[in-house]
Amino acid sequence: MAESLDPGARAAAEQKARKAARDASRTDEATGKSVGSKDIVPPWEMGADDIKLVDTHAHIDGEDFDGDREEMLARAKAAGVVAVVTFGDTMEASARAVALAAAHENVFAGVGVHPENAFPLSQAEEDRLAAWTKETRVVAIGEIGLDYYWEKDEEKRALQRKMFTCQLALARDLDMPVCIHDREAHGDLMTILKTEGRKNRGVIHCFSGSWEMAKELLKLGWYLGVDGPLTYKNAAKLPEIVEKMPADRLLVETDCPYLSPFPYRGKRNEPAYVRLTADCAARIRGESLEAIAEQTTKNACEIYRLKL
Ligand SMILES: [Zn+2]
Repeated sequence: MAESLDPGARAAAEQKARKAARDASRTDEATGKSVGSKDIVPPWEMGADDIKLVDTHAHIDGEDFDGDREEMLARAKAAGVVAVVTFGDTMEASARAVALAAAHENVFAGVGVHPENAFPLSQAEEDRLAAWTKETRVVAIGEIGLDYYWEKDEEKRALQRKMFTCQLALARDLDMPVCIHDREAHGDLMTILKTEGRKNRGVIHCFSGSWEMAKELLKLGWYLGVDGPLTYKNAAKLPEIVEKMPADRLLVETDCPYLSPFPYRGKRNEPAYVRLTADCAARIRGESLEAIAEQTTKNACEIYRLKL
């Protein structure tokens, strides 16, 4: 960037460069043409030599995958996805996630109750979550957190906070990392992470905050997960955060079956598509897909203690 540019012009030029990097992922490199649906090559047909990715946040227990779960995992493998971390969002889904991890060497699980399903956790339920963390390939407490987008009722938001702090405490007792959902609850999330949660560690998944918030979280030791929205035209602040943040705290994830990356937006998402988000992150950072895959997989192994 030319040093003579004033800060405003420099910011505009930087934004333009980021947009160009992002748009490059929606054009065919050979022809420069936009990718139409007939030109789309699915990630499992792209070849996976030297690519080792982890989908660090998925929900593969649900009925969306009942018809093709084994095929979906095979497609992920063919796309270079060597492991999937699947998260429960209810007690029932957590039980299914634990069973999937037990049955598949490349599937790891997180157990927890999502804020949209908040209820007062009984001691028996806490004990059950704790017992699950001793099972094969169960690596985290999650998905837990706060969701003020779907929950407008103040009493229910208070219940979410109670349940969140309770599961943070459980994770500390068990020395487990956590995977956190935060939607439109940034202020309360930061307050909790700086008080009760100051000794927790883990991931803020599907990060949706500002660069200022990202910097604070990074300083507190948190990892940030990015998903399909990074590839959208209206990705807002996320590309800038992915460009600026230290590589050793970045994770890539799908949150499947939700949030499909371009060019599958609106369709069912699956772990193989994490490659498209990783590819977009690589372009934004000016790195190769192989390098981003290696770094984000190393990060996933560190925070979730995955043994691959
Ligand atoms: Zn999720």
